[in-house]
Amino acid sequence: HACQQRLEKTRKLNIFISETQSEDLLRQIQSSEQAYVKGTAKALEGIPLAFKDNFCTQGVHTTCASKMLFNYVPPYDATMVTKCKEAGGIIVGKTNMDEFAMGSGSLDSSVGPVINPWNLTVPTSNSTETASSSEISAIETSPVWYIAGGSSGGSAAAVAAGTCLAAFGSDTGGSTRNPASHCGVVGLKPTYGLLSRHGLIPLVNSMDVPGIVTKTVEDSAIMLNVVAGHDIMDSTSVSSTHSPFHISRDLDLSKLHIGLPKEFQRLEMSEDVLLLWKKTADILEKAGAKVSEVSMPHAQYCILCYHVLCCCEVASNFARYDGIEYGLRYGSELSTEELYAESRHKGFNNVVRGRILAGNYFLLKKNYNKYFIKAQKVRRLISKDFKSVFSSGVDLLLTPTTLSDAPLHSWFTQEDNRTRCEEQDIFTTPANMAGVPAISLPLGLSKQGLPISLQISGPHFSESLMLSLAHWLE
Ligand code: GLN
Repeated sequence: HACQQRLEKTRKLNIFISETQSEDLLRQIQSSEQAYVKGTAKALEGIPLAFKDNFCTQGVHTTCASKMLFNYVPPYDATMVTKCKEAGGIIVGKTNMDEFAMGSGSLDSSVGPVINPWNLTVPTSNSTETASSSEISAIETSPVWYIAGGSSGGSAAAVAAGTCLAAFGSDTGGSTRNPASHCGVVGLKPTYGLLSRHGLIPLVNSMDVPGIVTKTVEDSAIMLNVVAGHDIMDSTSVSSTHSPFHISRDLDLSKLHIGLPKEFQRLEMSEDVLLLWKKTADILEKAGAKVSEVSMPHAQYCILCYHVLCCCEVASNFARYDGIEYGLRYGSELSTEELYAESRHKGFNNVVRGRILAGNYFLLKKNYNKYFIKAQKVRRLISKDFKSVFSSGVDLLLTPTTLSDAPLHSWFTQEDNRTRCEEQDIFTTPANMAGVPAISLPLGLSKQGLPISLQISGPHFSESLMLSLAHWLE
Protein backbone atom coordinates (compact mmCIF):
# COMPACT_ATOMS: atom_id res chain seq x y z
CA HIS A 1 0.00 0.00 0.00
CA ALA A 2 2.91 2.31 0.77
CA CYS A 3 4.37 1.63 -2.67
CA GLN A 4 0.99 2.32 -4.27
CA GLN A 5 0.86 5.68 -2.52
CA ARG A 6 4.35 6.54 -3.71
CA LEU A 7 3.34 5.57 -7.23
CA GLU A 8 0.38 7.93 -7.14
CA LYS A 9 2.42 10.74 -5.60
CA THR A 10 5.24 10.50 -8.13
CA ARG A 11 3.19 9.87 -11.28
CA LYS A 12 4.44 13.02 -12.95
CA LEU A 13 8.00 11.73 -12.91
CA ASN A 14 6.83 9.61 -15.86
CA ILE A 15 8.33 6.45 -14.40
CA PHE A 16 5.73 4.00 -15.70
CA ILE A 17 4.48 3.37 -19.21
CA SER A 18 1.68 1.14 -17.94
CA GLU A 19 0.41 0.36 -14.46
CA THR A 20 -1.29 -2.80 -13.26
CA GLN A 21 -5.03 -2.29 -12.73
CA SER A 22 -5.90 -1.82 -9.07
CA GLU A 23 -8.40 -4.76 -9.05
CA ASP A 24 -5.64 -7.07 -10.28
CA LEU A 25 -3.27 -5.73 -7.65
CA LEU A 26 -5.84 -6.21 -4.93
CA ARG A 27 -6.47 -9.81 -5.98
CA GLN A 28 -2.74 -10.56 -5.88
CA ILE A 29 -2.29 -8.82 -2.54
CA GLN A 30 -5.11 -10.89 -1.05
CA SER A 31 -3.66 -14.13 -2.35
CA SER A 32 -0.25 -13.20 -0.91
CA GLU A 33 -1.83 -12.36 2.43
CA GLN A 34 -3.45 -15.79 2.46
CA ALA A 35 -0.12 -17.40 1.62
CA TYR A 36 1.43 -15.74 4.69
CA VAL A 37 -1.45 -16.91 6.86
CA LYS A 38 -1.19 -20.48 5.54
CA GLY A 39 2.59 -20.45 5.86
CA THR A 40 3.09 -21.07 2.13
CA ALA A 41 4.63 -17.69 1.34
CA LYS A 42 7.37 -17.90 -1.29
CA ALA A 43 10.60 -15.90 -1.64
CA LEU A 44 9.00 -12.77 -3.15
CA GLU A 45 5.51 -13.23 -1.74
CA GLY A 46 3.63 -9.91 -1.94
CA ILE A 47 6.73 -7.94 -2.92
CA PRO A 48 5.96 -5.07 -5.33
CA LEU A 49 8.15 -5.28 -8.45
CA ALA A 50 8.43 -3.42 -11.75
CA PHE A 51 9.68 -4.48 -15.17
CA LYS A 52 11.20 -2.35 -17.89
CA ASP A 53 8.84 -2.18 -20.85
CA ASN A 54 11.12 -4.37 -22.99
CA PHE A 55 10.27 -7.54 -21.00
CA CYS A 56 7.34 -9.42 -22.54
CA THR A 57 4.35 -9.68 -20.23
CA GLN A 58 1.48 -11.94 -21.23
CA GLY A 59 -1.68 -9.94 -21.99
CA VAL A 60 0.01 -6.66 -21.01
CA HIS A 61 1.28 -4.07 -23.50
CA THR A 62 5.04 -4.24 -24.07
CA THR A 63 6.10 -1.23 -26.12
CA CYS A 64 9.86 -0.71 -25.67
CA ALA A 65 8.79 2.96 -25.43
CA SER A 66 8.43 2.91 -29.22
CA LYS A 67 5.58 3.85 -31.49
CA MET A 68 6.51 0.74 -33.45
CA LEU A 69 5.17 -1.51 -30.66
CA PHE A 70 2.43 0.80 -29.35
CA ASN A 71 -0.18 -1.98 -29.74
CA TYR A 72 1.95 -5.05 -29.02
CA VAL A 73 0.50 -7.39 -26.40
CA PRO A 74 2.75 -10.45 -26.05
CA PRO A 75 1.14 -13.88 -25.80
CA TYR A 76 3.77 -15.02 -23.27
CA ASP A 77 5.81 -13.89 -20.26
CA ALA A 78 9.57 -13.39 -20.32
CA THR A 79 11.32 -15.99 -18.15
CA MET A 80 12.28 -13.25 -15.63
CA VAL A 81 8.59 -12.35 -15.32
CA THR A 82 7.52 -15.98 -14.93
CA LYS A 83 10.12 -16.60 -12.22
CA CYS A 84 9.10 -13.52 -10.25
CA LYS A 85 5.41 -14.36 -10.51
CA GLU A 86 6.09 -17.95 -9.43
CA ALA A 87 7.98 -16.62 -6.40
CA GLY A 88 4.93 -14.57 -5.36
CA GLY A 89 6.09 -11.14 -6.62
CA ILE A 90 3.48 -8.58 -7.60
CA ILE A 91 4.20 -6.57 -10.74
CA VAL A 92 2.99 -3.01 -10.26
CA GLY A 93 3.79 -1.82 -13.77
CA LYS A 94 6.06 -1.55 -16.78
CA THR A 95 8.69 1.15 -16.66
CA ASN A 96 9.70 3.92 -19.04
CA MET A 97 12.97 3.72 -20.97
CA ASP A 98 14.86 4.96 -24.01
CA GLU A 99 13.24 3.59 -27.14
CA PHE A 100 14.39 -0.02 -27.62
CA ALA A 101 16.95 0.55 -24.81
CA MET A 102 19.12 2.81 -26.97
CA GLY A 103 20.38 5.68 -24.85
CA SER A 104 21.79 6.74 -21.50
CA GLY A 105 19.26 9.31 -20.39
CA SER A 106 15.74 7.83 -20.62
CA LEU A 107 14.86 10.92 -22.63
CA ASP A 108 14.34 9.25 -26.02
CA SER A 109 11.03 7.62 -25.18
CA SER A 110 7.82 7.87 -27.19
CA VAL A 111 6.01 8.80 -23.97
CA GLY A 112 8.43 11.51 -22.84
CA PRO A 113 11.42 11.55 -20.48
CA VAL A 114 11.81 10.01 -17.02
CA ILE A 115 12.48 12.62 -14.35
CA ASN A 116 15.02 11.73 -11.66
CA PRO A 117 13.26 11.48 -8.25
CA TRP A 118 16.24 13.29 -6.70
CA ASN A 119 14.96 16.48 -8.33
CA LEU A 120 12.45 16.44 -5.49
CA THR A 121 15.18 16.64 -2.88
CA VAL A 122 17.53 19.05 -4.64
CA PRO A 123 17.63 21.77 -3.57
CA THR A 124 14.26 22.42 -1.94
CA SER A 125 13.75 19.62 0.59
CA ASN A 126 15.58 16.71 2.23
CA SER A 127 13.47 13.72 1.40
CA THR A 128 11.36 12.40 -1.46
CA GLU A 129 8.69 11.76 1.19
CA THR A 130 7.85 15.45 1.08
CA ALA A 131 7.21 15.53 -2.66
CA SER A 132 3.90 17.10 -3.43
CA SER A 133 2.38 17.06 -6.88
CA SER A 134 2.81 20.81 -7.21
CA GLU A 135 6.54 20.37 -6.63
CA ILE A 136 6.61 17.71 -9.34
CA SER A 137 4.74 19.89 -11.82
CA ALA A 138 7.25 22.61 -11.12
CA ILE A 139 10.11 20.29 -12.10
CA GLU A 140 8.38 19.18 -15.25
CA THR A 141 8.01 22.71 -16.54
CA SER A 142 11.34 23.97 -15.22
CA PRO A 143 14.23 24.03 -17.70
CA VAL A 144 16.56 22.94 -14.90
CA TRP A 145 16.18 19.30 -13.92
CA TYR A 146 18.39 16.25 -13.58
CA ILE A 147 17.98 13.22 -15.82
CA ALA A 148 17.46 9.72 -14.42
CA GLY A 149 20.09 8.09 -16.63
CA GLY A 150 19.28 5.24 -18.95
CA SER A 151 18.15 3.36 -20.69
CA SER A 152 16.43 1.70 -17.70
CA GLY A 153 15.72 5.10 -16.11
CA GLY A 154 12.14 4.14 -15.28
CA SER A 155 13.23 1.04 -13.34
CA ALA A 156 15.89 2.91 -11.34
CA ALA A 157 13.53 5.81 -10.64
CA ALA A 158 10.76 3.35 -9.66
CA VAL A 159 12.93 1.92 -6.88
CA ALA A 160 14.39 5.30 -5.87
CA ALA A 161 10.91 6.82 -5.63
CA GLY A 162 9.69 3.93 -3.47
CA THR A 163 7.03 2.69 -5.92
CA CYS A 164 8.36 -0.88 -5.69
CA LEU A 165 11.10 -2.77 -3.83
CA ALA A 166 12.91 -4.11 -6.88
CA ALA A 167 12.79 -3.54 -10.60
CA PHE A 168 14.20 -5.20 -13.69
CA GLY A 169 16.10 -3.28 -16.31
CA SER A 170 18.23 -4.52 -19.17
CA ASP A 171 21.96 -3.96 -19.42
CA THR A 172 23.66 -4.06 -22.82
CA GLY A 173 26.27 -1.35 -22.30
CA GLY A 174 25.39 -0.10 -18.82
CA SER A 175 21.68 0.59 -19.02
CA THR A 176 20.96 -0.77 -15.54
CA ARG A 177 24.08 0.50 -13.75
CA ASN A 178 24.01 4.00 -15.24
CA PRO A 179 20.48 4.97 -14.10
CA ALA A 180 20.97 3.12 -10.80
CA SER A 181 24.01 5.34 -10.23
CA HIS A 182 22.15 8.55 -11.09
CA CYS A 183 19.12 7.62 -8.98
CA GLY A 184 21.10 6.44 -5.92
CA VAL A 185 20.10 2.77 -5.96
CA VAL A 186 21.92 -0.55 -6.44
CA GLY A 187 22.19 -1.84 -10.03
CA LEU A 188 23.40 -5.35 -10.77
CA LYS A 189 24.47 -6.68 -14.16
CA PRO A 190 25.02 -10.42 -13.69
CA THR A 191 27.40 -12.59 -15.72
CA TYR A 192 26.17 -12.98 -19.32
CA GLY A 193 24.06 -16.12 -19.58
CA LEU A 194 23.24 -16.39 -15.88
CA LEU A 195 19.78 -14.86 -16.33
CA SER A 196 17.59 -15.89 -19.22
CA ARG A 197 17.03 -13.41 -22.04
CA HIS A 198 13.91 -15.26 -23.19
CA GLY A 199 11.21 -12.63 -23.67
CA LEU A 200 13.58 -9.70 -23.24
CA ILE A 201 13.21 -7.86 -26.54
CA PRO A 202 16.75 -7.91 -27.95
CA LEU A 203 19.05 -4.97 -28.54
CA VAL A 204 22.47 -6.64 -28.86
CA ASN A 205 21.99 -10.37 -28.30
CA SER A 206 25.65 -11.00 -27.55
CA MET A 207 25.70 -8.44 -24.71
CA ASP A 208 22.12 -8.13 -23.38
CA VAL A 209 21.49 -9.24 -19.81
CA PRO A 210 18.52 -8.62 -17.53
CA GLY A 211 19.63 -6.19 -14.81
CA ILE A 212 18.36 -5.92 -11.24
CA VAL A 213 17.68 -2.63 -9.43
CA THR A 214 17.17 -2.63 -5.65
CA LYS A 215 17.63 -0.38 -2.65
CA THR A 216 20.21 -2.60 -0.96
CA VAL A 217 22.86 -5.14 -1.93
CA GLU A 218 21.11 -7.76 0.15
CA ASP A 219 17.89 -7.29 -1.86
CA SER A 220 19.97 -7.61 -5.01
CA ALA A 221 21.25 -11.02 -3.86
CA ILE A 222 17.72 -12.17 -2.97
CA MET A 223 16.41 -11.19 -6.40
CA LEU A 224 19.39 -12.77 -8.17
CA ASN A 225 18.84 -16.09 -6.43
CA VAL A 226 15.16 -16.08 -7.41
CA VAL A 227 15.81 -15.53 -11.11
CA ALA A 228 19.22 -17.14 -11.84
CA GLY A 229 19.39 -20.47 -13.55
CA HIS A 230 19.31 -22.35 -16.80
CA ASP A 231 16.47 -21.78 -19.24
CA ILE A 232 15.91 -24.09 -22.15
CA MET A 233 14.31 -21.15 -24.03
CA ASP A 234 17.61 -19.23 -24.19
CA SER A 235 20.45 -20.96 -26.00
CA THR A 236 23.06 -18.76 -24.28
CA SER A 237 21.76 -19.51 -20.79
CA VAL A 238 24.26 -21.35 -18.59
CA SER A 239 23.69 -24.29 -16.26
CA SER A 240 22.36 -23.54 -12.80
CA THR A 241 25.36 -24.96 -10.92
CA HIS A 242 26.66 -21.45 -10.14
CA SER A 243 23.82 -20.39 -7.83
CA PRO A 244 22.75 -19.84 -5.08
CA PHE A 245 24.89 -16.79 -4.38
CA HIS A 246 25.76 -15.84 -0.81
CA ILE A 247 26.81 -12.63 0.82
CA SER A 248 29.59 -13.41 3.22
CA ARG A 249 29.03 -11.52 6.50
CA ASP A 250 32.60 -12.00 7.67
CA LEU A 251 34.49 -11.04 4.54
CA ASP A 252 38.22 -11.19 5.19
CA LEU A 253 39.53 -8.08 3.44
CA SER A 254 43.14 -9.13 3.99
CA LYS A 255 42.60 -11.95 1.49
CA LEU A 256 41.30 -9.58 -1.20
CA HIS A 257 43.25 -7.95 -4.00
CA ILE A 258 41.38 -4.99 -5.53
CA GLY A 259 42.50 -3.52 -8.86
CA LEU A 260 42.08 0.10 -9.95
CA PRO A 261 42.42 0.28 -13.76
CA LYS A 262 44.64 3.26 -14.52
CA GLU A 263 42.99 3.84 -17.92
CA PHE A 264 39.74 4.65 -16.09
CA GLN A 265 41.23 7.84 -14.66
CA ARG A 266 39.58 10.04 -17.29
CA LEU A 267 40.00 13.77 -17.51
CA GLU A 268 36.25 14.13 -18.08
CA MET A 269 35.56 12.62 -14.64
CA SER A 270 34.08 15.01 -12.08
CA GLU A 271 36.10 15.87 -8.99
CA ASP A 272 33.43 14.37 -6.73
CA VAL A 273 33.60 11.01 -8.46
CA LEU A 274 37.40 10.92 -8.47
CA LEU A 275 37.47 11.78 -4.77
CA LEU A 276 34.94 9.08 -3.89
CA TRP A 277 36.92 6.51 -5.87
CA LYS A 278 40.18 7.36 -4.11
CA LYS A 279 38.55 7.57 -0.69
CA THR A 280 36.90 4.18 -1.09
CA ALA A 281 40.16 2.61 -2.27
CA ASP A 282 41.84 4.03 0.87
CA ILE A 283 39.12 2.62 3.13
CA LEU A 284 39.62 -0.83 1.58
CA GLU A 285 43.39 -0.61 1.95
CA LYS A 286 43.12 0.48 5.60
CA ALA A 287 40.80 -2.46 6.24
CA GLY A 288 43.55 -4.82 5.06
CA ALA A 289 42.85 -5.34 1.36
CA LYS A 290 45.66 -5.21 -1.16
CA VAL A 291 44.80 -2.34 -3.51
CA SER A 292 46.88 -1.73 -6.62
CA GLU A 293 46.78 0.02 -9.95
CA VAL A 294 46.24 -2.33 -12.90
CA SER A 295 46.28 -1.78 -16.64
CA MET A 296 43.48 -2.50 -19.11
CA PRO A 297 45.01 -0.96 -22.23
CA HIS A 298 42.12 -1.69 -24.58
CA ALA A 299 39.30 -0.34 -22.40
CA GLN A 300 39.74 3.09 -24.00
CA TYR A 301 38.34 1.70 -27.27
CA CYS A 302 35.17 0.31 -25.73
CA ILE A 303 32.78 3.10 -26.78
CA LEU A 304 33.72 2.93 -30.46
CA CYS A 305 33.84 -0.83 -30.46
CA TYR A 306 30.49 -1.07 -28.63
CA HIS A 307 28.76 1.20 -31.11
CA VAL A 308 29.98 -0.66 -34.19
CA LEU A 309 28.90 -4.03 -32.76
CA CYS A 310 25.64 -2.62 -31.39
CA CYS A 311 24.66 -1.10 -34.74
CA CYS A 312 25.49 -4.33 -36.60
CA GLU A 313 23.33 -6.47 -34.30
CA VAL A 314 20.58 -3.83 -34.41
CA ALA A 315 20.61 -3.85 -38.22
CA SER A 316 19.96 -7.58 -38.11
CA ASN A 317 17.55 -7.65 -35.15
CA PHE A 318 15.32 -4.83 -36.29
CA ALA A 319 14.47 -6.42 -39.63
CA ARG A 320 11.58 -8.11 -37.78
CA TYR A 321 9.73 -4.81 -37.40
CA ASP A 322 8.21 -4.58 -40.85
CA GLY A 323 4.62 -3.68 -40.00
CA ILE A 324 3.38 -7.09 -41.19
CA GLU A 325 3.15 -9.52 -38.25
CA TYR A 326 2.78 -7.05 -35.41
CA GLY A 327 3.40 -3.47 -34.45
CA LEU A 328 2.72 -0.28 -36.30
CA ARG A 329 1.47 -0.64 -39.88
CA TYR A 330 1.36 2.41 -42.03
CA GLY A 331 0.23 2.91 -45.58
CA SER A 332 -1.29 -0.54 -46.22
CA GLU A 333 -2.79 0.71 -49.48
CA LEU A 334 0.71 1.24 -50.85
CA SER A 335 3.09 -1.39 -52.24
CA THR A 336 4.74 -3.83 -49.82
CA GLU A 337 8.05 -1.98 -50.12
CA GLU A 338 6.40 1.30 -49.29
CA LEU A 339 4.48 -0.26 -46.43
CA TYR A 340 7.75 -1.43 -44.86
CA ALA A 341 9.40 1.95 -45.39
CA GLU A 342 6.48 4.02 -44.11
CA SER A 343 5.91 1.80 -41.06
CA ARG A 344 9.58 1.89 -40.10
CA HIS A 345 9.86 5.61 -40.78
CA LYS A 346 6.83 6.39 -38.61
CA GLY A 347 7.51 3.73 -35.98
CA PHE A 348 11.15 4.34 -35.03
CA ASN A 349 12.81 7.46 -33.62
CA ASN A 350 15.96 8.99 -35.13
CA VAL A 351 18.31 7.11 -32.80
CA VAL A 352 16.91 3.72 -33.82
CA ARG A 353 16.83 4.58 -37.53
CA GLY A 354 20.37 5.95 -37.30
CA ARG A 355 21.67 2.73 -35.75
CA ILE A 356 19.91 0.56 -38.34
CA LEU A 357 21.47 2.63 -41.13
CA ALA A 358 24.93 2.62 -39.55
CA GLY A 359 24.76 -1.12 -38.92
CA ASN A 360 23.80 -1.88 -42.51
CA TYR A 361 26.68 0.32 -43.66
CA PHE A 362 29.19 -1.49 -41.42
CA LEU A 363 27.90 -4.82 -42.72
CA LEU A 364 28.20 -3.99 -46.42
CA LYS A 365 30.48 -6.48 -48.13
CA LYS A 366 33.13 -3.79 -48.71
CA ASN A 367 33.03 -2.65 -45.06
CA TYR A 368 32.52 -5.93 -43.22
CA ASN A 369 36.17 -6.62 -42.43
CA LYS A 370 37.02 -2.99 -41.83
CA TYR A 371 34.32 -2.42 -39.21
CA PHE A 372 32.48 -5.53 -37.99
CA ILE A 373 35.37 -7.99 -37.92
CA LYS A 374 37.77 -5.38 -36.57
CA ALA A 375 35.34 -4.45 -33.78
CA GLN A 376 35.00 -8.13 -32.88
CA LYS A 377 38.78 -8.38 -32.59
CA VAL A 378 38.90 -5.31 -30.36
CA ARG A 379 36.12 -6.82 -28.24
CA ARG A 380 38.30 -9.91 -27.81
CA LEU A 381 41.22 -7.73 -26.68
CA ILE A 382 39.02 -5.94 -24.12
CA SER A 383 37.89 -9.34 -22.76
CA LYS A 384 41.53 -10.42 -22.61
CA ASP A 385 42.36 -7.34 -20.52
CA PHE A 386 39.90 -8.59 -17.90
CA LYS A 387 41.28 -12.13 -18.11
CA SER A 388 44.87 -11.07 -17.66
CA VAL A 389 44.06 -8.77 -14.73
CA PHE A 390 42.07 -11.50 -12.96
CA SER A 391 44.64 -14.19 -13.68
CA SER A 392 47.38 -11.96 -12.22
CA GLY A 393 45.78 -12.40 -8.79
CA VAL A 394 43.35 -9.46 -8.76
CA ASP A 395 40.00 -10.58 -7.32
CA LEU A 396 37.79 -7.61 -8.11
CA LEU A 397 38.02 -4.25 -9.87
CA LEU A 398 36.83 -0.99 -8.35
CA THR A 399 35.92 1.83 -10.74
CA PRO A 400 33.42 4.67 -10.94
CA THR A 401 30.08 3.82 -12.62
CA THR A 402 29.58 7.15 -14.37
CA LEU A 403 31.71 10.20 -15.09
CA SER A 404 29.63 12.46 -12.84
CA ASP A 405 26.40 12.71 -10.88
CA ALA A 406 23.13 12.94 -12.86
CA PRO A 407 23.59 15.49 -15.66
CA LEU A 408 21.19 18.35 -16.14
CA HIS A 409 18.60 17.79 -18.85
CA SER A 410 19.70 21.01 -20.57
CA TRP A 411 23.34 19.85 -20.68
CA PHE A 412 22.51 16.34 -21.87
CA THR A 413 20.36 17.50 -24.77
CA GLN A 414 22.73 20.11 -26.17
CA GLU A 415 23.58 19.26 -29.76
CA ASP A 416 27.36 19.68 -29.25
CA ASN A 417 27.29 17.25 -26.30
CA ARG A 418 26.24 14.28 -28.43
CA THR A 419 29.58 12.46 -28.15
CA ARG A 420 29.97 13.40 -24.51
CA CYS A 421 26.65 11.67 -23.89
CA GLU A 422 27.95 8.50 -25.50
CA GLU A 423 31.01 8.72 -23.26
CA GLN A 424 28.68 8.27 -20.28
CA ASP A 425 29.01 4.52 -20.88
CA ILE A 426 32.79 4.51 -20.74
CA PHE A 427 33.07 2.62 -17.43
CA THR A 428 30.15 0.27 -17.98
CA THR A 429 30.52 -1.09 -21.54
CA PRO A 430 33.74 -3.08 -20.88
CA ALA A 431 31.90 -5.53 -18.59
CA ASN A 432 29.32 -6.17 -21.33
CA MET A 433 32.06 -6.79 -23.90
CA ALA A 434 33.62 -9.41 -21.64
CA GLY A 435 30.35 -10.77 -20.22
CA VAL A 436 31.62 -10.36 -16.65
CA PRO A 437 29.39 -9.31 -13.72
CA ALA A 438 29.36 -5.78 -12.33
CA ILE A 439 27.44 -3.95 -9.65
CA SER A 440 26.92 -0.23 -9.12
CA LEU A 441 26.27 1.02 -5.62
CA PRO A 442 25.65 4.51 -4.29
CA LEU A 443 28.40 5.52 -1.88
CA GLY A 444 28.28 9.29 -1.67
CA LEU A 445 26.73 12.60 -2.58
CA SER A 446 28.07 15.19 -4.99
CA LYS A 447 28.39 18.90 -4.24
CA GLN A 448 24.90 19.34 -5.72
CA GLY A 449 23.57 16.77 -3.26
CA LEU A 450 22.99 14.09 -5.89
CA PRO A 451 24.04 10.45 -5.48
CA ILE A 452 27.37 9.22 -6.83
CA SER A 453 28.23 5.56 -7.18
CA LEU A 454 31.11 3.18 -7.68
CA GLN A 455 31.20 -0.05 -9.64
CA ILE A 456 32.70 -3.39 -8.61
CA SER A 457 33.32 -6.02 -11.26
CA GLY A 458 34.82 -9.48 -11.11
CA PRO A 459 35.49 -12.64 -13.14
CA HIS A 460 32.60 -14.63 -14.63
CA PHE A 461 30.29 -16.05 -11.92
CA SER A 462 32.04 -14.18 -9.09
CA GLU A 463 28.69 -12.70 -7.98
CA SER A 464 29.03 -13.99 -4.40
CA LEU A 465 32.36 -12.24 -3.83
CA MET A 466 31.24 -9.11 -5.68
CA LEU A 467 28.04 -8.85 -3.64
CA SER A 468 29.96 -9.51 -0.43
CA LEU A 469 32.36 -6.63 -1.03
CA ALA A 470 29.47 -4.37 -2.12
CA HIS A 471 27.63 -5.27 1.09
CA TRP A 472 30.75 -4.53 3.14
CA LEU A 473 31.05 -1.09 1.52
CA GLU A 474 27.36 -0.24 1.72
N1 GLN B 1 23.82 3.63 -23.75
C1 GLN B 1 24.10 2.46 -24.49
C2 GLN B 1 23.36 2.50 -25.79
O1 GLN B 1 22.78 3.47 -26.10
C3 GLN B 1 23.76 1.24 -23.67
C4 GLN B 1 22.35 0.87 -23.73
C5 GLN B 1 21.98 -0.36 -22.95
O2 GLN B 1 22.72 -0.87 -22.10
N2 GLN B 1 20.80 -0.86 -23.26
O3 GLN B 1 23.33 1.59 -26.54
